[in-house]
Amino acid sequence: MIVILEPNIDPKSDVYINLMDQLAQLPNIQVRVHREQGVQQTLTEIYLIGDTAAIRLEDIQTLPAVDRVVRVSQEYRVLGRHRDDTRSSHFEYNGVTFSQDNLHVFAGLCAVDNPDHVEMMMKALQENGQVCTRMGAYKPRTNPYSFQGHGKNCLPYVFELAGKYGIKVIAMEITHEIHLQEIRDALKATGNPTGVLLQIGTRNTQNFELLKAVGRQQEFPVLLKRGFGITLEESLNAAEYLASEGNRKVIFGLRGMKTNMGDPHRNMVDFAHVPVVKRLTRMPVCIDPSHSVGTRAASSDGIQDIFHVVAQGVISGANMILVDFHPVPGKALVDGPQALLMEELPYFLQDVAIARQAYEKRLALQTQFLSQNPSG
Ligand code: PEP
Ligand code: MN
Repeated sequence: MIVILEPNIDPKSDVYINLMDQLAQLPNIQVRVHREQGVQQTLTEIYLIGDTAAIRLEDIQTLPAVDRVVRVSQEYRVLGRHRDDTRSSHFEYNGVTFSQDNLHVFAGLCAVDNPDHVEMMMKALQENGQVCTRMGAYKPRTNPYSFQGHGKNCLPYVFELAGKYGIKVIAMEITHEIHLQEIRDALKATGNPTGVLLQIGTRNTQNFELLKAVGRQQEFPVLLKRGFGITLEESLNAAEYLASEGNRKVIFGLRGMKTNMGDPHRNMVDFAHVPVVKRLTRMPVCIDPSHSVGTRAASSDGIQDIFHVVAQGVISGANMILVDFHPVPGKALVDGPQALLMEELPYFLQDVAIARQAYEKRLALQTQFLSQNPSG
């Protein structure tokens, strides 16, 4: 059960202290407080965990300082959608709003290789009105002899160039909790020119200690990739690990499932789950067409499979696209064969806009249908 308090409740106030005393007396119930400092207000949610079936909603609802009470199902307590749950499905980070209602493109390098390529990428993004990118510094590789990423050494120039070209958020995978501090230090040393969306890769979706460490901080939001060989439920529970530790600024990423059934694509594209994740949880949903498809192959219509799957995800309401680009894919140190070309960026963005408009038209059509068929 979640007890949502009136905004800006002072934890030192009598009303708050009395409320906590009363909740502490509930038998077999553990009380956990989550406080979210927003730009305009501080929200306090109190989680009642344990034998909540015995508690009457009305008894809690009528306590002083309580705004409303939500009875949660067992699944995804913090990030899930529950009956009569009107909690928001958006958050803001470094001036960018992430939501189940909007869409951001994170085009960029799978792996940072040199400052020239980073600069070419970021310049192209700025010229095309983009403020988000992806830049891999820590690369989890299947083969121990493959390039492992430049790690912390590339962070200063990546962040400085981001500041130069107006990039506000960089999606960057981390594979160990020490990378958190390295990113913090590099941001500070460069004067915080940009923001970082921490990425947990598919190989680490169930690295619970990493999830806990990343969940304990609220400074950076998190993009959690779906595990490539586990169920959707297991991956959503992994996201809940982050939230249960205190960080609920979580975006859920679909990136294809590991199975030969998806051949000749690198992974089996799973973007049909975009609306499913949005129904089950309040997380914005990201699609990664590059790691799903894995090639620049085009269909008989001349349109690349990567573009086709992006359109499929966006027309179903995806909220973020993480996509590999590279100025010279032949020289990319990681995943060159799936990288889109710099000159394809404006075309890609236009194609995305077409799919998004189609989604918005579909939404309007559904609203119209419901207004004419109120019981539908
Ligand atoms: C990536 O986005 O660079 C990446 C390695 O993705 P995934 O974890 O989905 O394989
Ligand atoms: Mn990659």
